[in-house]
Amino acid sequence: MASLAPTPTSNYRGRLAPSPTGHLHVGHARTFWTAWQRARDAGGALIMRLEDLDPERSKSAYAEAAYDDLRWLGIRWQEGPDKGGPCAPYMQSRRRSVYLAAWRTLLQRGFLFPCRCSRKDLASALSAPHERATAQGHGAASGGKLDMEDDEPIYPGTCRGSIGNAPQLPGPTGPTGPTGHQTDTPEGFNWRFRVPDGEVVEFVDRNLGPQRFVAGQDFGDFVVWRRDDVPSYQLACVADDAAMGISEVVRGADLLKSTARQILLNHALGYRDPAWFHCRLVVDHNGRRLAKRHDALSLRSLRQRGLTPMNILSAELPEEG
Ligand SMILES: [Zn+2]
Repeated sequence: MASLAPTPTSNYRGRLAPSPTGHLHVGHARTFWTAWQRARDAGGALIMRLEDLDPERSKSAYAEAAYDDLRWLGIRWQEGPDKGGPCAPYMQSRRRSVYLAAWRTLLQRGFLFPCRCSRKDLASALSAPHERATAQGHGAASGGKLDMEDDEPIYPGTCRGSIGNAPQLPGPTGPTGPTGHQTDTPEGFNWRFRVPDGEVVEFVDRNLGPQRFVAGQDFGDFVVWRRDDVPSYQLACVADDAAMGISEVVRGADLLKSTARQILLNHALGYRDPAWFHCRLVVDHNGRRLAKRHDALSLRSLRQRGLTPMNILSAELPEEG
């Protein structure tokens, strides 16, 4: 099996970004394989980044299993938690300062507001809640992410008025935002990004073609920092892709709408957008996206049943859309 050149010969930088919240399944295998192929074909580098921000669900045993499954498939990477590299650390749980810096920049530029709404408030404010149980997709960057349901209800705007009227925040004395209040720590609130209502976010996906979303209609003000003091998937992903110089993001099509949100974050932070390549999702025989519940399709169990990487990567599997 061909491998990545020991020294990249181009500026292409891709990434693999698994969440260690369960075992990888056949859908992940397809997406990660595509990410690896594209980096290899471009003569570029592939970075392993562990998206382990969720302290409750992330397990180091799942991370080890993911590395092992990916190596078994024949996928190799040049930088990562197991290899080190110029952008270390490669585990999101150890990159808090990067996310805090992004949070501060967004706050100082007036993009954020603290939200005090409880889940119950949000549920009752929504006239037609369509909160459905969102299956976890299998984006290269997914598998149990925080705040990443692509179809979360539109935020009703209850706390938008607190832009420019930030509360006195707890924490030590630090830089002051436009409000003149201390804004040293995001702790204690859900911090939301105020989306520009009606703004069209368009991008050309390298696999799926032109994409178009309308801010405020397809998605609303989204959380960038959670009340329990954990940065959101959207913020961490954007900050890391910029810091790690990622030139192309390969992940599952379940994250298309997240890409629209991340483009807004990139622009607010002054980052350049990477190129996007979203892979169609593998679905089960009922047409449902694969999720952690599909244990029978985990790479672990397929390996145990004697399947080879070729069996898994070449099998005819139904795809969404
Ligand atoms: Zn609110």
